[in-house]
Amino acid sequence: MEYLDEFYKEENFKVLKSYLLTHTVFAAYEYLDSDILNSATEFDSKDDLYDFYNDGYKNLVLSNHEILGVAEENAYMTFFIDDEVKKEIIDMCADIKAAYRSILEEEEWLSEEGKKAAIEKLDNLEFCVLKPDTLIDSSYLQVDKDASYLANFANLSISQRKHNLSFVGEKRVKGDWRYDLRPEIAATVDNAFYYGCFNQFFICSMGVNEFRPEYSYEENLGKLGAIIGHELTHGFDPMGIQYDKDGNMVVTDENPSGWLPQADYDAFMEKMNKVAEYYSNIKPFPYTAVDGNNVWGEATADIGGITIGLKIAEGIEGFDYDKYFRSFSTDWMTQVTLIGEQGDVNNEHPLRHLRVNTVLSQFEKFYETYDIKEGDLMYLAPEDRITVW
Ligand SMILES: [Zn+2]
Repeated sequence: MEYLDEFYKEENFKVLKSYLLTHTVFAAYEYLDSDILNSATEFDSKDDLYDFYNDGYKNLVLSNHEILGVAEENAYMTFFIDDEVKKEIIDMCADIKAAYRSILEEEEWLSEEGKKAAIEKLDNLEFCVLKPDTLIDSSYLQVDKDASYLANFANLSISQRKHNLSFVGEKRVKGDWRYDLRPEIAATVDNAFYYGCFNQFFICSMGVNEFRPEYSYEENLGKLGAIIGHELTHGFDPMGIQYDKDGNMVVTDENPSGWLPQADYDAFMEKMNKVAEYYSNIKPFPYTAVDGNNVWGEATADIGGITIGLKIAEGIEGFDYDKYFRSFSTDWMTQVTLIGEQGDVNNEHPLRHLRVNTVLSQFEKFYETYDIKEGDLMYLAPEDRITVW
């Protein structure tokens, strides 16, 4: 803010004016005619953007989504989210939370004090599934049927800005699901997230895609269940562990172990270093190794997702492990070019085949199910396995 003060001065007036003017024109070009769109994209020299916007229908849908935001979200949630499915997913989240609780209680490398703190964090974690119980009132977004498309865009943008500003200074309410202020958690987003700073977990429309009432419990547990377990484990990965049960960042120079006792934190980091070392030794391409310290959080979450699934399985008589492992693995099937995959090596998520093969190699139950023995390609000696939680 201090820096901004320095910038907002008489001598910068001309630059600020040009900046605002250019940005206003660029913000509006999607809503004007195709000549303006063509010159704007040319100026922007983004050929892919040009092709994209030339698809008029797609352009219209996406632009409307951007400006009608909450109103469109509400329509989606009302017409496309089945309350019964939401209920079933909430039940699965409860199973996963309970299984993780048992895992923490039984963790041999955690002290009693550490277990208590970890369980407190788990108990305080909020699950937000598919849509909030009460939809946000979208009446602040009004469309004037007689006004032009551009005028409506301008008015809606102003209304959205005013709406957002009305929350400045307000304290966050526990359990909030403000998709009007945080579009990244909108129900139409095909993803799931864990936010350490809120100790809050979201399953957006991914839940609808990954969970099917007609699937068996094993199949759903292998797909959405593994994702829920993955996100939950993020609360206890090297990044997530820095936040306490209320979402406060508590790891500091003065308090390097945060909410965990120092000895427990050290034991955790020792395990994490083993994960990093393990992944750093993987060479998916002759000259490219994985950077273990880049993927360790995602790798731990992937492994955690299966640890939790298998914990649930322990309590179910006749659990079909083959169905579970197959359902999990087939979820990662995809087609990717060699260049695409080489680029993905630098992503913080391990490559897709590693998200299956490396993860499943850590579990005795996987070996038992497929009769994998020492010398087989996916076999890992027990002392080399890297399960953290
Ligand atoms: Zn993740």
